Amino acid sequence: MSECEIYDMIIIGGGPGGLSAGIYAMRAAMKTILFENGVPGGQMVNSDSVENYPGFVKIGGAELSQKFSEHARAYGLEISTREVVAIEPAIEYHRVRLDNGELVGAHSIILATGGSPRKLDIPGEDELYGKGVSYCAVCDGFFFRNKTVVVVGGGDTAAEEALYLAKLTKQVYLVHRRDALRAGMILQQRVKEECKIEVLWNTVPTRINADDQGVSSVNLQDTKTGETRVLETDGVFIFIGFEPNNQLVPASTRMNANGYVVTDEKCETNLSGIYVIGDLREKYARQIVVAAGEGCTAALAAAHYVEAKKTGEAVCELPEELLREVS
Ligand code: NAP
Repeated sequence: MSECEIYDMIIIGGGPGGLSAGIYAMRAAMKTILFENGVPGGQMVNSDSVENYPGFVKIGGAELSQKFSEHARAYGLEISTREVVAIEPAIEYHRVRLDNGELVGAHSIILATGGSPRKLDIPGEDELYGKGVSYCAVCDGFFFRNKTVVVVGGGDTAAEEALYLAKLTKQVYLVHRRDALRAGMILQQRVKEECKIEVLWNTVPTRINADDQGVSSVNLQDTKTGETRVLETDGVFIFIGFEPNNQLVPASTRMNANGYVVTDEKCETNLSGIYVIGDLREKYARQIVVAAGEGCTAALAAAHYVEAKKTGEAVCELPEELLREVS
């Protein structure tokens, strides 16, 4: 196989995990390329403020993303904006296929593609996306100054974004399906103290309605009594968790029932030389600091693997069913 350029490491995804892996890979003198076809920083770019990344009491998500990216570039990390469309594992070296059909090879691959917002799957959600329905308060909050918005969800993201929107809007209705928030205690306290936020407990939206200006109201249902009502609103912000972006995960890779990739403590999958980090990896806490730590772990482990493979001390092991497919 000599048709493509061969790297030591390919990193796919430029969030905190991918960029941290890039820093460690470059420091380990690995020939590395990172593919990110959006803005470096991943989900953190859309965060108004990050208050739990050590070393920064409070920093904007976009600013922290910029710092991660500058740090990685300072070590000479090659960052490509080409889209990766497939990963093709093989014994000699793995390959990734790009959107222009080009193939790039590498002894190791670190997959850091994170997750995407989960959808409510109710009538009006898709049709009104961009016309009052949003999954990003920092991106779209500006359009709702002095207006009324509904925020759906009860986790850290919903609480943080509701607090952000309360600074801009006239009124925020936080719609949560249970009688207690999942968000951490500090955020719960802040939500309680913010007079512009009213929490609608045990409530789910069932339909988003519009007039010719965009979103005009939501149909709500009480999860306990089944009672329904219509709430007028100018916007609906949905923060009900994330789905793992596992579209590039090769066949035969071990995943759990929810689509997160199962790895060992080195972040290595059951395919030698293929590592998964960040929000795509099965784990307890999905935090920037955790993704960054996993980037470090995977890059150090991958560097060790690549060196051992080059000297013949390590061999690439792939599941039998995959070997049958690639041979
Ligand atoms: P999450 O923790 O999974 O919370 C999702 C919320 O949406 C839950 O309250 C859930 O209700 C609700 N929900 C899920 N599906 C729903 C549906 N179909 N209809 C209505 N409500 C629904 O997601 P997240 O808030 O996006 O957070 C993701 C991860 O990132 C978490 O680990 C979180 O701690 C982390 N994070 C941390 C920070 C921070 O530390 N500053 C900030 C943002 C995110 P139930 O509670 O009833 O399940």
